[in-house]
Amino acid sequence: MYDFAIVGGGIVGLSTGMALYQRFPNAKVVVIEKEAVVANHQTGHNSGVIHSGIYYKPGSFKARFARQGSKSMTEFCRVHGIEHDICGKVIVATKPEELPLLDDLYSRGLQNELAIQRIGVEELKEIEPHVNGLGAIRVPQAGIVNYRQVSEKMADIIRGNGGEIKLNTKVEKIDEDFDDVIIDTNNGTLKARMVINCAGLHSDRIAAAAGYKTDMKIVPFRGEYFKLKPEKRFLVNHLIYPVPNPKFPFLGVHFTRMISGEVDAGPNAVLSFKREGYKKPTSMRKI
Ligand SMILES: Cc1cc2nc3c(=O)[nH]c(=O)nc-3n(C[C@H](O)[C@H](O)[C@H](O)COP(=O)(O)OP(=O)(O)OC[C@H]3O[C@@H](n4cnc5c(N)ncnc54)[C@H](O)[C@@H]3O)c2cc1C
Repeated sequence: MYDFAIVGGGIVGLSTGMALYQRFPNAKVVVIEKEAVVANHQTGHNSGVIHSGIYYKPGSFKARFARQGSKSMTEFCRVHGIEHDICGKVIVATKPEELPLLDDLYSRGLQNELAIQRIGVEELKEIEPHVNGLGAIRVPQAGIVNYRQVSEKMADIIRGNGGEIKLNTKVEKIDEDFDDVIIDTNNGTLKARMVINCAGLHSDRIAAAAGYKTDMKIVPFRGEYFKLKPEKRFLVNHLIYPVPNPKFPFLGVHFTRMISGEVDAGPNAVLSFKREGYKKPTSMRKI
């Protein structure tokens, strides 16, 4: 019998498990993950950026959460010796009509209490000689990390506190008993006092498996990236982002330095027919 059963071993499930042990050191926590390793989906397929939270509405929960999260992620990496690089980011306006949007974003960043700088063409050339822009915001506190490594450390911390990470275990059905929750998996039945749904792209299915009707719909999009040839990586010093187009809910195509030394350019956004489909369909691969 567990106190807390967390469905999903991505960064949200694992950090929830860790936070539970900080608040309830004697609790019994289990993280249930359908894959053979943690962080095998969104968490292990993302750009690896430690975002600063510049984009979010000042005073919103998201802005506060992003700001605190970026600080605590950097601190977590420092304390646990996880390789990371606070390489900073530039958001670059390349067209005159983007300059007012850049200024709005700058004042938003200041309201979000970020120590950022609005820089002109010359300063931009100094720090990013291969970028042609009309002006930029420099966000020194943005960085990069490998979130698989972060997640593995979080899993170790949970285990170190007496918790369990049940891998290869897919939650299929959740029922409520008098005081407990009964969780049926492909690997046996578990009981817990509480279940926390951290199943990412399957969180709607987990809610349905527990008998909840939601009006949420997961519409999968795949982001595709190019990689810079190793001999061209010197072209990119920071993370380089465009000014976001307010018509789209994406940050725009950017250059991301990865902790492995690679530099990615992307993503686009392609409607995907699978929730966990990371490759192009075979028929499209040569296009
Ligand atoms: C293309 C892309 C780039 C991104 N870039 C960044 C970035 O640079 N920086 C950043 O901070 N964020 C980034 N994000 C966002 C970030 O990756 C996600 O917000 C985060 O990883 C979500 O974590 P999660 O734990 O909710 O989900 P996931 O990592 O998807 O974890 C959910 C887990 O639940 C498990 N699961 C699902 N169903 C079941 C079941 N029935 N039984 C057991 N287990 C189950 C899955 O196997 C999975 O491991 C990016 C996202 C995308 C898509």
